[in-house]
Parts: sequence; structure tokens; C-alpha cells
Amino acid sequence: MEEQQKSSHVVLVMVTFQGHINAALQLATILHSKGFSITIVHLELNSPKPSNYPEFTFVSIPDNLTESQLSDKDIPGLVRSVNKNCAAPLQRCLEKILHSHHHISAVIYDSFMFCAQPIVDDLGLPGVTLCTHSALGLLFYHVFPQLNEKDCISGLESPELQALQLQGFHALSSQNPTEAGLEVGAAFANALKSSSAIIVNSMEFLELEVLSKIKQYLPTPIFIVGPLHKLAPTMCNSLCTEDNKCISWLNKQAPKSVIYVSFGSIANIDKQELIETAWGLSNSKQPFLWVFRPSMDRGSEWTESLLNELEESVGERGFIVKWAPQKEVLAHAAVGGFWSHCGWNSTIESICEGVPMLCRPFFGDQILNACYICNVWKIGLELQNQERGNIERTIKRLMVDMEGNYIRKRAMDLKEKAAFYLMEDGSTSCSFDGLAKHISSV
Ligand code: UDP
Repeated sequence: MEEQQKSSHVVLVMVTFQGHINAALQLATILHSKGFSITIVHLELNSPKPSNYPEFTFVSIPDNLTESQLSDKDIPGLVRSVNKNCAAPLQRCLEKILHSHHHISAVIYDSFMFCAQPIVDDLGLPGVTLCTHSALGLLFYHVFPQLNEKDCISGLESPELQALQLQGFHALSSQNPTEAGLEVGAAFANALKSSSAIIVNSMEFLELEVLSKIKQYLPTPIFIVGPLHKLAPTMCNSLCTEDNKCISWLNKQAPKSVIYVSFGSIANIDKQELIETAWGLSNSKQPFLWVFRPSMDRGSEWTESLLNELEESVGERGFIVKWAPQKEVLAHAAVGGFWSHCGWNSTIESICEGVPMLCRPFFGDQILNACYICNVWKIGLELQNQERGNIERTIKRLMVDMEGNYIRKRAMDLKEKAAFYLMEDGSTSCSFDGLAKHISSV
């Protein structure tokens, strides 16, 4: 088996978003440690740093994308463009790799790069989908469109999960999806049908009921391999430079006193919300570390004046960075809460450190993750509106009130479960062995 894997070659096709790049490189690192040789195919926009991974071969394909498209709110439109622009270059690239390597054991592609599946079918190669979202996302976007209301809650025992499913089901059926949304959804579902396996960066104990429900409808083998960031912890895949000065600042703060604020790499926040966020943080009187990305209009006259006023008002109590070493921040003893957009990576990073969350989801699976956090796992509070008074009150509820203590206790319980799950002979390690066997045998 080990010998067979040494000669096995996996091609990993990544998409251009930070959270997806992290998960793909972490997966590649683990597969490499299990004896697979790795070729990474990536887009030109936001390409990773090959020097961080001298053991992998990197190949870039043209994508015809611009930086400004990345900050666009139309994610389905962007995903559609990525697949349209990249299909032909990806086909040529895979043909070239096949000629020079003679053999590809499997092509693992990010679920947003679904154009890969018809190409690998054409080349007679096995395709494996990598989901960087939860199993719940898989259920919502791939299984629910085929179900009616009764089917969607059948087989679920937990009332919270039933409520979440119904809420999501109604939201989905009342939604008027854009043309791009429909196209992307259909292509996604088609790719999954011919995919030889699905990899999900999650932990089974978080999503047991959802997983068994998916298995009723999707015959494709599913490998739950998370939390990937804990299994390949040393790599820094940040596309922006991490500002490590915030760690020295955190070192000076009291235990569990700091609220860390970050809305991931894509979410766009309008001017009014940025202003309310700044004054909500100031009025809360709680120490805070805020990731204010350059793409949030940073550098413009009004943001500079807002940041100056905020710094004057809060002094040493606040620290603002363009990009933080997030995993280190969440693991720091001074951090007691995470105000987040609820991207899936941020969610599992927070769970693994036992940090309770303040949820401000923006779009897509972030909304599902926020429901999971607040209603199912009960390790966070939802920010009902983005007005400064409400921000101030909700921060206090999470960080100082008794209510926050109970939430923190549950977050710490989940952290313990995650640590147990990660132990050497735990489920993740079995799942990886299963995945390695699957890739070597297809
Ligand atoms: N991240 C980081 N520093 C920051 C903000 C985010 O390292 O200042 C990382 C974070 O740890 C996570 C990823 O960027 O791994 C964001 O992924 P997520 O799925 O949470 O959100 P997305 O950016 O895809 O919306």
C-alpha cells in the first residue's frame, strides 16, 4: 500500500479565494506526507508561493480575471467566469501533465472549479471534489433542490436542525436565483454526480445527522478530513502580509478580554457599516483587534479619517491591522470572542480554539454557518443589525454577561471534542487512510 502510494500522483486544482487556497494546500501537504507526489494547478490571480512548498510542482493557468472582480458581490457570476475562462487552459494543462508524468492517480478539484469534472471524464481520469464548506452546505446546495419540504426534515432528530433545514429550505425556494446562480448550481450538481469521491473539510461529530441525511441521497463516497488547518499547521498561505505586531499587543491584554474582528478575505462592507462597526467597538469599552483589509477602501480619505478618529478615541485599547495571523490570534489566551462573517474556515478555526463567536454573515454558506453556530451548537450570538448601539450591547452580552459565560463554556466543550477527534487514532486519521486507499485504487 505504502509503495503503491509513493508512485501515486495527485493533481490538485485550486481556485483563487484565500479560504479555498488554504484548504487545498493543507490537503496537499497531508497527502504528500502519506507518500503521494503532488502537482498544484492554480490560477494566475492570487497564485500561492511555490517557495513555501518545494516538494510540490506548481503549474499556473491563465484566468483572464481582474483584482476588481474579486471584490465583486456577485460570487456566482465570478465563479461562472472562472470556469468559463479556465476550462480550455485546464484541459491543455492536464493533457500536458499526463504526457510528461504518464500517470495521474486522481484529479482533486475545488468544488468551485467544477469545469474540471467533464475534462477529467474526457481524459479517463478519476475526479474528486474538494468541498471547503460544511457538509450542511453540500446538503443545501446539492441535495435540497431535489427534495420537497417533508423530505427535507425527515430523518433529523434535533429540533434545532429541523428548524434550520426548514428555514433554509424556504429561503432557497423563495429565492429568485440569478441566471449565473442557476447555471453554477446545475454545473456544480452535475460535477458531483460523476465525481468519484467528495472530500469535506469538517469534523463528523459536528455534522452527524446532516451527513447521514446526505448519504440517503448521494451515493458518492464522502471523506470527512477536517480540521485541515490542525493537521497541516505550520504553513502560512496568506496572500497578504500578516501583521505580527498584533501578537505583541495581545500579549499585553488580560485573558479572554479581546474581541477579534475579521470578515474574511472577500466580504465587502459598505461605508455606513464600517462607521457603525468602528463606533460600536469604541463604545463597547472592550479591547479589540480589527482586521481592516486594504480592499475595504483603506487608504481613501474617509477611511483614514475614520481610523484616525477611532485611534484617538480608543488609544491602546484597540489594534487595527490589514491582515492578521488569524490562527495564532484565535489560539491566544487574550482572545475571548470572534466577531466573524462566519466563513467556514474561520468557523472551524474558532471551534478548534474554543472561541465563542459574534456572527455577521454576508452571503452564501456564511448564513448556514451562522445558524449552525447560534442555533445548533449554541456557541455564538447573531448580530441582529449593524447599528452601533446594538453592536455595543451584543459585544457586552458575549464578552462580559453571564449569557456569554454559558456560550463560552459550550465553545470550550466543542474545543475538547475537536482535540479528542484529532487524536492519532481518531476519525480524521481513519478518514485520511480511507481517502488514500480510494485514490490509489480508482
Ligand atoms: N485569515 C487570515 N488573516 C486575516 C483574515 C483571514 O489568516 O486577517 C484567514 C483565516 O484564518 C481563514 C481564511 O483567511 O483561513 C478565510 O477563510 P474563510 O473561509 O473564513 O472566509 P473567506 O475569506 O473565504 O470568506
